[in-house]
Amino acid sequence: MPNNCPCGSGRPYALCCEPIINGKSDAITAQELMRSRYTAFTLANVNYLMRSHHSSTRPNKERKSIEKWAKSVRWIGLNVLNSQAGEATDETGYVEFKALFMENGQLQQLHERSFFQRENGKWVYVSGTMY
Ligand SMILES: [Zn+2]
Repeated sequence: MPNNCPCGSGRPYALCCEPIINGKSDAITAQELMRSRYTAFTLANVNYLMRSHHSSTRPNKERKSIEKWAKSVRWIGLNVLNSQAGEATDETGYVEFKALFMENGQLQQLHERSFFQRENGKWVYVSGTMY
């Protein structure tokens, strides 16, 4: 199905990450925000990647290189391994995931445990630990 969301939720893009990326609705959980950021990577939507990043750790100077890199790889899929807190009533949360992509003809895997926090009431990405 061409309209399936890149994040692999099995839901149509228009009912999954699109309204979050477009700012029409907010991610309810840290995992939803994480999924929307993965989808934004597949679209090389660096504006959203910056907006969904905590202001204290936002990599403004790396905008161009992030966009270039996101466009240079072919995104294969996202696997959410587990979440800790990050629910509708939480202020912080962790999501561990694996993202698969092809880079220079090689299958690569990004395995990260990301930390999320609310900023101005909205979930944002703060930092991550790579495995
Ligand atoms: Zn999605």
